[in-house]
Amino acid sequence: MRIIRTIASMHVWSNRLRHSNRRIGFVPTMGYLHQGHLSLVKRSAEENDATVVSIFVNPLQFGPNEDFKKYPRTPKRDESMLREAGVDVCFYPSADRMYPAPYYTSVNVEYLTDTLCGRSRPGHFRGVATVVAKLFNIVKPHAAYFGQKDAQQAIVIKKMASDLNIDVDIKIMPIIRERDGLAMSSRNSYLNKYQREDAVILYKSLRMARRMINEGERSPGLIIGKIKGLITRRDSAKIDYCEIVDTKTLRPVAEIKGEVLIALAVYIGRTRLIDNFKMRVN
Ligand code: AMP
Repeated sequence: MRIIRTIASMHVWSNRLRHSNRRIGFVPTMGYLHQGHLSLVKRSAEENDATVVSIFVNPLQFGPNEDFKKYPRTPKRDESMLREAGVDVCFYPSADRMYPAPYYTSVNVEYLTDTLCGRSRPGHFRGVATVVAKLFNIVKPHAAYFGQKDAQQAIVIKKMASDLNIDVDIKIMPIIRERDGLAMSSRNSYLNKYQREDAVILYKSLRMARRMINEGERSPGLIIGKIKGLITRRDSAKIDYCEIVDTKTLRPVAEIKGEVLIALAVYIGRTRLIDNFKMRVN
């Protein structure tokens, strides 16, 4: 596995691969890797001739009071996981190289970023869309792999790629979970033992919602009320949002019909966790 730190060297590597007609798969991450990330890597390795994984904790997508400083950074551990997974290149840019001063340009996907995480984290998706657009220009992948765990991010990136005519096939992979159902996340490492037990409530409440829908319930208000009731029974839990939205518009639905996303963001202590279920209802 090659470790590439400069943008110029990444360009050279990608141009060489493209000139020899080989397909590049790309998995952007912020590191502290887990099985969720590795599931994207595995799929990329299956579908492409070479896989690039980027590790970059992107300052642009963190708010001033968020966890940018304390976000876990474990480069040696991540590198050995990627080597074991058969990754070809680990791309490790620095913030100075990504955003040399003065830096003036950003990518903003409108409308889809006004809701859900976009409402709670102003500027977050502008940071995400900007870094992903830059990484696409640097890595020049044929396909890029994202997780359904960050459902709104996946939808925003797809729209950005299509609106800007970026010729990258965006693939969205299923959520990988711990044995008890908690969605894997680098931020789970912030949880203490009691909070870790409480955190499973996101998954449990989504399962309850899915069961209600499968049994014929079609009122979003009623289901959301039940989810909120279940979550607030846990001592450490505080709901940021709980919504049932249309997967195209990300706006709340009046009735559960078509393809909907049940989306949750919940603080467990000071750790903000997200999870979602996507469902198709006739
Ligand atoms: P992150 O390092 O948190 O920015 O995540 C990098 C990529 O991995 C994003 O596309 C995430 O959606 C994806 N990802 C994170 N957690 C999971 C998970 N539990 N299952 C599947 N994909 C995930």
